[in-house]
Amino acid sequence: MEIVVAENAGFCFGVKRALELVVKAAEDKARPVHTLGPLIHNPQEIARLERLGIRPAESLDDIADGAVVLSAHGVDPALQSEARARGLEVIDATCPFVSRAHQHIKTLCDEGYAVVILGDPGHREVEGLAASSDRQAYIVTSGEDARAVPRQRRCGLVVQTTQRPEALREVAGELALRCDELRVFNTICEATVSRQESARKLAESVPVMIVVGGRNSANTTRLAEICERAGAQAHHIETAEEVQPQWLAGAARVGVTAGASTPEWMIERVVERLREIAGESGGS
Ligand code: SF4
Repeated sequence: MEIVVAENAGFCFGVKRALELVVKAAEDKARPVHTLGPLIHNPQEIARLERLGIRPAESLDDIADGAVVLSAHGVDPALQSEARARGLEVIDATCPFVSRAHQHIKTLCDEGYAVVILGDPGHREVEGLAASSDRQAYIVTSGEDARAVPRQRRCGLVVQTTQRPEALREVAGELALRCDELRVFNTICEATVSRQESARKLAESVPVMIVVGGRNSANTTRLAEICERAGAQAHHIETAEEVQPQWLAGAARVGVTAGASTPEWMIERVVERLREIAGESGGS
């Protein structure tokens, strides 16, 4: 069985940057370092950070002193001010691409545009973006949702960084018919586009795709959807141990891709596990 790893898979620039910031902060043992919510959406990597002494906190109320690191997904801007007001050191690990989306929303609000966010409701990045619009934004996930947005004179569209370009096309097309003036900020990040393209290409040439990443990771879930649409049977897993030999029965090739918050060592473990299964079943 041939095992092919997608050309672009795993850690992106924003996640690497966030991890570097938090690990560097933890080197200074003079004060405790906390992350507000999971720094990235990968439970195994979060567990590694905990072993380095980095403490996850659910809210500011759980942090008495020290430093608080804001996740790569960004947060409600009011939370940053509150953390500083409480005397905490704030380390902002928000990905610059997410910060750019916040900036676009503020500009739209200042200029009197109704704001529409294409994104997954409840996702931390989308919650943070909505907060930048004073929670006035309409959150949509599809063209169908966009059809329910009331008619607007001026409307601006901003996109969760990990959405599919096809969803942007669909939503922008619908909104254009429902307002006099539409401004579209394509805030899907390059890392997302390249990972999705590589996954799609690979999924078109293999019967089975293994998609590695946190179950709470929006971009990993999206990769699995893309692989299914491309015709492969996609299995979204968090750890190598989850791979089931029966998924690979009869497959001459299997593809592997991984979300932007999946470390290289997890991809390698999955490849090793696939090799073991191929060996056990007499494949090459
Ligand atoms: S997926 Fe893109 S926006 Fe999100 S952290 Fe990575 S580089 Fe930044």
